[in-house]
Amino acid sequence: ELRNAHEPEFLQAVYEVAESIIPFSEKNSKYKVNKILERIAEPERVIIFRVPWLNDKGEVEINRGFRVQMNSAIGPYKGGLRFHPSVTLSVLKFLAFEQVFKNSLTGLPMGGGKGGSDFDPKGKSDAEVMKFCQSFMTELYRHVGADIDVPAGDIGVGAREIGFLFGQYKRIRGEFTGVLTGKGFEWGGSLIRPEATGYGVVYFVEEMLKLKGDSLKGKNVVISGSGNVAQYTAEKCIEVGAKVLTLSDSEGFVYDPEGIDTEKLKFIMDLKNNRRGRIKEYADKYNCQFFAGEKPWGIKCDIAFPNATQNEVNEKDAQILVDNGCFCVAEGANMPSTPEAIHVFEKAKILYAPGKAANAGGVAVSGLEMSQNSLRYSWDREKIDVKLKVIIAQIHQACVKYGKEDDGYVNYGKGANIAGFVKVADAMIAQGIV
Ligand code: NDP
Repeated sequence: ELRNAHEPEFLQAVYEVAESIIPFSEKNSKYKVNKILERIAEPERVIIFRVPWLNDKGEVEINRGFRVQMNSAIGPYKGGLRFHPSVTLSVLKFLAFEQVFKNSLTGLPMGGGKGGSDFDPKGKSDAEVMKFCQSFMTELYRHVGADIDVPAGDIGVGAREIGFLFGQYKRIRGEFTGVLTGKGFEWGGSLIRPEATGYGVVYFVEEMLKLKGDSLKGKNVVISGSGNVAQYTAEKCIEVGAKVLTLSDSEGFVYDPEGIDTEKLKFIMDLKNNRRGRIKEYADKYNCQFFAGEKPWGIKCDIAFPNATQNEVNEKDAQILVDNGCFCVAEGANMPSTPEAIHVFEKAKILYAPGKAANAGGVAVSGLEMSQNSLRYSWDREKIDVKLKVIIAQIHQACVKYGKEDDGYVNYGKGANIAGFVKVADAMIAQGIV
């Protein structure tokens, strides 16, 4: 704790996992004797570097770049890059830590890592984003590789950024390899990768509801965010017959009581992905309410998807959701609920799917992108979608196996932590004290 005293997000993520793992290790002494929890919480390596670039006015700008290589016990480091002004070492260490468990849960051979920069792509020209990405990769290239560390996208890093990063890596190394995932389909990307995280979250909810003999059809859902994960969560919710009431961005949320349908979602995708505009425009166009500076948790719903960022649901928000009859919360974002919020969900015994289980579909399909790159082959949409569904169903099963409590309540948080931990911990023990 002292060693990481200045890293609140990282400590939060470790405490959340420790709550499940300490009692589990007490009963399974090999994990305790080998100090797996202590070892797993220390990154194998952290790289911090200067990223200088020239803006359109010809001025020098300096950002800080990071790559946290957290754990390689079960495969090469794997995890996204985040470009956002709020990026700190603490944020990236929490994300890398969560990634280790998530990647393990997918059943694919991937270790955990995360990286990024405090660079803000908002308001920057394409040329500026390209120059930044090229400078970032000019240092990062020496630390990554198809069998070493394979970054992907995250907040602020989408198809455009992955393209610029990949181009620079290829230019420096002179080789075309699967060093990044989330690539364009024409140059080594996988079908379904853009959709995978959002679709996967909805598949996870379908699994949880199936266990209760229920489904998403006719359910009212509230979604935060309007980026990659939020858009495809909305698309799949609409497809399975749920009503999407809200979407948001960092300026506020829109509430459409009639539901955001396919046509309206198309408008949002164009607004966010091509025009890089603000969600408020939706309210103006479709004549509905925009709540400036607010989060959507006060809107009455059956199911909530926090799909924007960490700590966006606090204890009060959680209580409002529960009081309004929300019976399922599935995290598309990483660690969007504070520890106090999670306790509210667990106390109310509602269905609560933690990010490391519910949003694992993205990295799962990234793993499939790596497999296709190694095979020098592309699978069709249907095959990948089926694989995604199977992986999500297996993660769900693993959560039930380790998370079912005596009264039958499934504590998905505990289940995901233990199931993710066991595979990595056993590999670490087998590989010795390294
Ligand atoms: P995007 O950059 O595509 O979208 C992020 C969305 O969240 C935007 O609507 C953004 O609003 C909003 N947002 C970001 N930061 C904040 C903030 N500090 N306060 C309020 N709103 C904010 O990112 P993704 O959709 O890829 O990622 C969303 C979440 O999902 C993250 O937690 C990420 O780690 C997680 N995730 C993503 C995966 C993926 O495959 N992309 C995989 C697994 C998890 P604005 O435009 O105003 O900034």
